Formats: sequence, C-alpha cells, structure tokens
Amino acid sequence: ITVLVVVPGDDTGEASYLDPDAPIADRVADLLGRMTIEEKVGQMTQVAVPAIEGVPADIGDLGIGSLLNGGSDALRDTPEAWAEMIDGFQSEAMGSRLRIPLMYGIDAVHGNGALPGAVIFPHNIGLGAAHDPALAAEAAAITAAETRATGVHWTFAPCVCVARDSRWGRTYESFGEDPGLAVEYAGPVVEGYQGEDLAANGSVLATAKHYAGDGGTALGSSTTDDYLLDQGVTTLTEEELRSIHLAPFKAAVDAGVGSVMVSFSSTDLGDGPLKTHGDAYLVNEVLKGELGFDGFVVSDWQGVDQVSEDYAEAVRTSINAGVDMVMVPFEYRRFIDTLLAEVDSGGIGEERIDDAVSRILTQKFALGLFEQPYADTAGAAEIGSAEHREAARRAAAASQTLLRNDDGLLPLAGDESIYLAGSGADSLGRQMGGWTASWQGSVEAVTEGTSIRAGLEAVAPDAAIAYSETASEPIGDADVGIVVVAEDPYAEGIGDAGAGAHDMRVSEADAAAIDTVCAAVACVVIVVSGRPIEITSHLAEVDALVAAWLPGSEGTGVADPLFGETPYGGRLPVTWPRSNDQEPMNVGDAAYDPLYPFGFGLQTA
Ligand code: BGC
Repeated sequence: ITVLVVVPGDDTGEASYLDPDAPIADRVADLLGRMTIEEKVGQMTQVAVPAIEGVPADIGDLGIGSLLNGGSDALRDTPEAWAEMIDGFQSEAMGSRLRIPLMYGIDAVHGNGALPGAVIFPHNIGLGAAHDPALAAEAAAITAAETRATGVHWTFAPCVCVARDSRWGRTYESFGEDPGLAVEYAGPVVEGYQGEDLAANGSVLATAKHYAGDGGTALGSSTTDDYLLDQGVTTLTEEELRSIHLAPFKAAVDAGVGSVMVSFSSTDLGDGPLKTHGDAYLVNEVLKGELGFDGFVVSDWQGVDQVSEDYAEAVRTSINAGVDMVMVPFEYRRFIDTLLAEVDSGGIGEERIDDAVSRILTQKFALGLFEQPYADTAGAAEIGSAEHREAARRAAAASQTLLRNDDGLLPLAGDESIYLAGSGADSLGRQMGGWTASWQGSVEAVTEGTSIRAGLEAVAPDAAIAYSETASEPIGDADVGIVVVAEDPYAEGIGDAGAGAHDMRVSEADAAAIDTVCAAVACVVIVVSGRPIEITSHLAEVDALVAAWLPGSEGTGVADPLFGETPYGGRLPVTWPRSNDQEPMNVGDAAYDPLYPFGFGLQTA
C-alpha cells in the first residue's frame, strides 16, 4: 500500500497537479493542498509593473499571482520585447517553491492598444452601431491573437456596461444604452477572446466588466469628486438593475467568461449606496450564486481601498463579499500583510481564501500556463497584418451611421474636388480614442494606421482633396466639403482630457470649420466621437451627417461607405440628444425628444 501524505511545505516532486492529463479540478485540489496561507494570499494579489520591476524577486518570494500594466500603456515597442519582459517576470514565479505561473493582464479593449503596430478596432460603441455581434467576435479573436503573441494572457475586456447617460466618460466602452445590445454582444465577444481552447496560442482570458451598474451612475452623486461620474452611484430598483445592468453579465457567464471585474460604482437599491467591491449580495449571492459564475472576481484598480477608510475593514469586507483577486496595484506588501492578519484573526475564513485561490488556479490551468508558462511569439508575424487590418476596416465601415443625407449627397462619386477640414480629419490619435498606447489616448499618432484623410485618398484616388484643418485656406471651387469634427481622446472621468467635464459640445474650432465650409459648399459632417456630441446649432447648412464613432486604426473604413464601396448600415446604439442637458435620455423614456432616436440610421445601397 502506498500512502501519499501531502503536507504544506512539500516540494513538488511527482505532484499530480503537474500532470497535464489530470482533470483541472483534481489539479487545483492537489495544488491547493500543498500551499501555505502565504502562498494562497500571494495568488490573490495583482501588482502593477511599475511597483514590481525594481524588485522582481518579490514575485517568487511572495508568490504573486498576477501582474498588470494599467491603461494600455505601451511599455515595450515590439512583441518580442513584451514577451521578454513578461518572461522575465514569469521566470521569477517559476522559481518559486511550487512553480505556480503568473498571469499577466492588460486592457486590450479594442485591439492590443499596448503594442505599437497592433491593429486597432472601433471602440465598442461603434461595434454596437454595426449591430453585428459576429463581427465583434471576429475583432475580439484578432485582438486575442495579437495580444497572446506578446506573452500577455488576459484582457480586461469586454466592457458589457450599459451606458445610460452619454455624459459618462466611458460611454464609448459600451455597446449601447439598450441592454439588449450588450446581451447580444457579450457572449460572442467573450467567445472571441477566449476561443475554443484558452490554452491555444491565439486565446486570452476575458473579463466582463464592470460588475454591475457602472453605466447607470448619476451626475454629481459621486462621494469623492464631481467629475467622477463613472465612480458614482447607480440608484434604481432591483428589477431595473437586473433587466438593464445584470443581463449582459448573465450572457457573459453563460458564455464561460473566466473573470469578472467589479465596478468602482456604488448601487443604491433604496437602502443607501453600497460600494460594489463590498457588496456581498451582488457579488457572492447574485453573480456567483444565482448566475453560477465559476471564474474569479478581480477588483478594479484600488477599488477595494474605497470600501472603507479603514484598510483592514476594506479588505475584509471585499474579500468576504466575494472578490477573489485584488488589483492592489502598488502597496502589495500592505495588502498581503493585511489579508494575512485578517485570516489569522478569523475576520476572513480560510475556506473563503481556498475558494478564491481555487478559482484563480482553475483559470491558470485552463490557460495552459503550467505546461507553457513562457510566451509563444509564433503569432507575432500576424500582428498588424493586412488580413487583420482588413477586418478592422470592415468593422469601421459597418459602424458608420448615416444620420442625414439631403438630396442623396452620399455616397460621393469619388471624382469630386473635395475640401477637407476638422480636427478629426488627419488625426490617428483622435480616431482611436482612449485606451490606445496609454490610458487617456492622445491627439498624437499613437500607433500605426491610416488616418481618415489618408483613407479618403486611398478609396477615392481620383478625387482632388485639399486639406485645411481649421478651414483657414480658401475653399476655391470645391464640389463638396467634408468636415471631420472630433472629440479629443479621454478615458473614464472626463477631467482634464478631451472636452471637459460632462461637456459633449463640439469644439469651437470644429464648429467654426463647419460654419465656414458648409456656408460655402455642399457639405458632409463626420463626427469622430465616443458618444453623441452636441452639434444641433451648427447643422442648418449641413447636407449630410455621419457618426463615425471611434473607428480605430483604419481610416479607409470611414471612407468606404462615403464613396459607396460599402453601404451605410450603422444604427444609433445610443440616443442622440439635441442638447447635452437632456441627458440622461434613453429609448423608452416618457419625455423622449432627441435629435435622432436610438436605432436611427439611414441605409444606402
Ligand atoms: C479601469 C478598468 C481597467 C483598470 C486597469 C481601471 O481604472 O476602471 O477598466 O481595466 O483600470 O487598467
């Protein structure tokens, strides 16, 4: 008789968790049985690269479970350099007693925005306008391939938020204001990221975020800072919460999403606001219980810290509410010590820790990390390939939403003399928006791609295109004017970046360009933005109006329907108000008097 005695502190030996043929549940149980409480707590800890890069040995010494770089920061220039960096961190993890691999996560929310040269797809709002979940799934699959080939295992996407107030700085991360859209997209997009086999080189672990109600926060109700609309309070009935904000998470869970990120926001169901990070009802009972979510729950960036001013209480409440991994992301020793002390004093039961760690390890086994902890960059050759760019171009074209077309001005023939103006006409940074090369994006050309101007030139080589951003050059004898107005890029709270807090008004320079060009010649206004913008008072002389959303790296996709290469088929995923102060305004509201209603979009052949 052979008796296998496993005591914490054992070396791995012939441990069955290392057997690739054993069922994942058995491997998890075997590994968990060998772990010390310190090793378990380490797995629940997610650290930001800037905090760890000077002290990489901490990864192995503390058994850190995960690293991230926030905000799509382009930390390295090439796929190989990314892989080398991540492999370096991974080798620290693989040097630890039990050789538990790290999981590395980024915000690849519309392509691998952290990698220069990766293809950038339209942000979710544009994909929602296309009303084509299969196309969004294709975008997710390409994003996954361009991400995993750099050694990254995990993306913090999709955002399945339902944006109920377009002043929200994350409206563009939403598929739209109608929960039906997010429900339709959530499953296919999760499947696009995760593929049939998470361990395959082209797959990444997906994250449905931000659970729940992030898109329902009210203006000015934030306890911290007025402009932080996205970290405010969502006040509604339980029935509204379920039908509007929880439904897309159910779809993501049903599709097998591996992780869910908790929202910074609070929910008020009538008893006062409760931070979701500390909401045991929403996380434990509803998400893990009712919806049957068996992946792991990750906090948002320092989200746990907001649960209480007393850090120990914040950690205790959040972990007991069901948060499994904490995006710390800097003071990881403080987090680890606090969590250990809570376990020691009985504030958090060890079975809660075991549940959290089991959930995390399950996904690491599913990702195949125990078999292949290091990057496989074979797919790097395809990053930014012609085929991937063609898919992004198709997605951009399908998202173009035609709102006005007097006298059938569009599509253009392609041989016109065109006067082109506006801040979005020749700005890769503006057409990509936030979460590209950095958190807030940039008005500069942040990565490779084709601007809208270059797209027009490529699609209509016979057109004579004169360009003046501010319409300061003479308009001459142009047949048609095209004014591409744009929001400056931003992310989350619309503070110092972009249009200013809650302000959806078209910029003064772009408004002046519209007024100048459209007074002189038949004109098309193309709006590059993450949400409807307030433009009503400048439309009198406008002949055609197109919502281009944030189309990504392929400006050719904006040009395609403009010249009739593809039809205009996009439909508004959000209500387009006459003025910014009509918000929040959503389809179905009693007082509904928008400029263009939800679902509107003219179709061309
Ligand atoms: C955002 C998340 C994001 C995280 C990591 C947070 O500020 O709310 O959506 O995934 O940062 O970058």
